[in-house]
Amino acid sequence: MDTAPADATSPAEKANLDFIREIVEDDLRTGKHQTIVTRFPPEPNGYLHIGHAKSICLNFGIAQEYGGRCHLRFDDTNPTKEETEYVDSIQEDVKWLGFDWGENLFYASDYYEKLYGFAVELISKGLAYVDSLSPEDMREYRGTPTEPGRNSPYRDRSIAENLDLFKRMREGEFADGAHILRAKIDMASPNLTMRDPALYRIRRAHHHRTGDAWLIYPMYDFAHPISDALEGITHSICTLEFEDHRPLYDWTIANITIAAHPRQIEFARLNMTYTVMSKRKLLQLVNENLVSGWDDPRMPTISGMRRRGYTPKALRDFAAAIGVTKANGIVELSLLEHYVRNDLNFVAPRVMVVNRPLKVVITNYPEGQVEHFDAENNPEDPAAGTRQVPFSRELFIEQDDFQEVPPNKKYFRLAVGSEVRLKHAYYLTCQEAIKDEAGNIVELRCTYDPESRGGGTPDGRMVKGTLHWVSAAHAIPTEIRLYDTLFSVSEPTGDFATELNPNSVQILAGAMAEPSLAEAKAGDRFQFLRIGYFCMDPESRGDRLVFNRTATLKDTWAKVAKRQ
Ligand code: ATP
Ligand code: MG
Repeated sequence: MDTAPADATSPAEKANLDFIREIVEDDLRTGKHQTIVTRFPPEPNGYLHIGHAKSICLNFGIAQEYGGRCHLRFDDTNPTKEETEYVDSIQEDVKWLGFDWGENLFYASDYYEKLYGFAVELISKGLAYVDSLSPEDMREYRGTPTEPGRNSPYRDRSIAENLDLFKRMREGEFADGAHILRAKIDMASPNLTMRDPALYRIRRAHHHRTGDAWLIYPMYDFAHPISDALEGITHSICTLEFEDHRPLYDWTIANITIAAHPRQIEFARLNMTYTVMSKRKLLQLVNENLVSGWDDPRMPTISGMRRRGYTPKALRDFAAAIGVTKANGIVELSLLEHYVRNDLNFVAPRVMVVNRPLKVVITNYPEGQVEHFDAENNPEDPAAGTRQVPFSRELFIEQDDFQEVPPNKKYFRLAVGSEVRLKHAYYLTCQEAIKDEAGNIVELRCTYDPESRGGGTPDGRMVKGTLHWVSAAHAIPTEIRLYDTLFSVSEPTGDFATELNPNSVQILAGAMAEPSLAEAKAGDRFQFLRIGYFCMDPESRGDRLVFNRTATLKDTWAKVAKRQ
């Protein structure tokens, strides 16, 4: 084992390992395992969310770091809730996050015949029996956390009778729910999971892969450890709610004839403020049309975050930052946004888009003239180069970059008689504000200083404010979707009637974008100068662009918190 990667880790580095990586390194050092094999085992009954991303980064990350492999396995043992659409979306999301299962794509349903065989083995050893209690009676016999359960009257059926009944369950002789196969463990166990848990149930349901071939389906607690063992998984990492199931996991593998014995390790699931993570709740949001779909940019799904403009790196950095522990807690949504901004600051090209346009006419600029200015694409990344931005007599600026009378000495935007710098272009002085009959400002008459071309200071005079703008004749009509949290309470329980944020999306239908954005594609991310980070939506068209706001430029919440 002297070449194992684990040995390269210094004791100091080791101190920073999470408890799962510590176990993995110990197992490599002691020679218990030579190759680490993990798996990510989603049930294809919904789209993946940010909690799954934590699990994906952990499982695939460990495999990568220790030169092992990570399997993608669909835990498809519940035929009524599972669909191919989910299988496809899950694969897309794992790939997008930057991970690769190579040839190791598996389905629990591929093991149905083997699982059946292991059930027969347990029956033959007197370790499983067919129970015929009604579901209500079964619940009654189960006992409570403080009272032991009682043995079912069917518990002592002979092995031959159990084998016969189980076979006939498979052959479709009985109605759904008439019988159930249970492990024979201990009805008095203080751990309710060990009170003769169900292994197989009868269910006449079409399965997305096996079709109508099966009328009985294995329970998760039976299928999961066996699937792990069949694939030679070394470390079966799951969330804390399975801690009580670990004795059953071990019991199952210990009592069947199988080579591998994976180790189940539990960690705390990710919870995040302003977010619900239950797939059941997310499905309900979709089904009740409270969001536009699984990929609604407000959803905590990976597909929603992708459409919103979050980057795979931001999600991976976030997962690394929150780490892995055994303590349940709740992570601030603003931490995820921090990693999103962090990444976008380096990779998002800068462009000019006016959200709420106000028309500017430059009275001393020649009519019909167009100049093109070189604009740097990203000051953080010189390799990003420059683009050309057209300038002409009529422009749009932001409505809130103008006030008729400057409110105070610190007001550096435009006011009648004041001068500002137009980014990449000229200095501009406002001469007059034109109003409609209702008194609304509809247009500004301004003059420019031809000496200030490119935005430099012609005579050293101070101009503090710099505004973004677009040339009216060249601007592309744009719809901007501004998002806020889907829930208005920081720790939602999932009561949509009282907890959904009524202002979670605000549409700005009249925005104007610089013409270079005609070439952008859906999914491209930008920093709109002075405004925020935005991602082009798939609904965007050439003559009417659509952008989703990914994040504001700064953490506005931090400001809110400070003010309070
Ligand atoms: P949900 O409770 O939302 O329906 P689930 O646990 O049933 O989720 P699975 O498809 O079974 O969903 O999850 C696949 C893997 O992702 C499991 O190993 C599970 O433990 C892990 N996982 C699910 N939710 C989280 C979370 N919030 N944080 C970390 N890991 C999670
Ligand atoms: Mg699950």
